Amino acid sequence: MHTVRIPKVINFGENALGETDYPKNALVVTTAPPEMSSKWLDKMGIQDYMLFDKVTPEPSIDDVNAVISEYKSKDPSVIIGLGGGSSMDVVKYAAPELGKPKILIPTTFGTGAEMTTYCVLKFDGKKKLLREDRFLADMAVVDSYFMKGTPQQIVNNSVCDALAQASEGYDSKLGNDLTRTLCKQAFEVLYDAIMNDKPENYPYGSMISGMGFGNCSTTLGHALSYVFSNEGVPHGYSLSSCTTVAHKHNKSIFYDRFKECMEKLGFEKLELKADVSEAADVVMTDKGHLDPNPIPISKDDVVKCLNEIKAGTW
Ligand SMILES: [Zn+2]
Repeated sequence: MHTVRIPKVINFGENALGETDYPKNALVVTTAPPEMSSKWLDKMGIQDYMLFDKVTPEPSIDDVNAVISEYKSKDPSVIIGLGGGSSMDVVKYAAPELGKPKILIPTTFGTGAEMTTYCVLKFDGKKKLLREDRFLADMAVVDSYFMKGTPQQIVNNSVCDALAQASEGYDSKLGNDLTRTLCKQAFEVLYDAIMNDKPENYPYGSMISGMGFGNCSTTLGHALSYVFSNEGVPHGYSLSSCTTVAHKHNKSIFYDRFKECMEKLGFEKLELKADVSEAADVVMTDKGHLDPNPIPISKDDVVKCLNEIKAGTW
């Protein structure tokens, strides 16, 4: 048997934000400052709501507990996570604790977090990646409205992450026919949007990517990328090289087209400060990404991939 979990309702496309009906007495949770969130709330047309905008970036379980203790007695009808990963992660955890449904509205794109059962929170100062069915949204609203004004480099990094997640997810050994259908379609939408200059389709492609890889996993490309993240390289940017080299190593059907997209987006090659052998040891501990890789990976394979990334020979 295979299981695929996605939100009950998905509103997407032009005007999704404004055309969605939001229940009265909703609690909106965001990290955005009032001048920004009031613009978004206007666009949503939401009325009769409560606002909690004190979520800290890279939130911890303390942020979740702050929401619970402040709003438990106010009995909100629904909890809306409006923002990037931080706002959504707090709502993913807090809503089921309060026994309330949740609506996730991503204002950034790339991770597909609005579609997944993943939740990243700090516990005792340490980031933890949790995955539980109860973190899934009851409704997700995906609208490209929020892209306006986003710096080009952030847009490029984000679409690179979505494209990497779709294509690595397609190759994952944890996948099934339905996840592969979703990952393949996500790749097609994103490839077309990148190559034919249709960035307004990025959030939609990223959403399908989340539905696909969120029900299986990413693989070698993501495993390689974390040694660069440790040196401060943005996640999406590190995948531009790491996933290209991983696809070459895995003989992925997406290799040529992934590389074409990276060239079109104009990513530069990565630097690695760490010693390659030591970095490879770190990569080898990442069983969560290496075990579902379509072919077994040895330390020698990782060293070879890291050297290719450093040399920019992909
Ligand atoms: Zn990623």
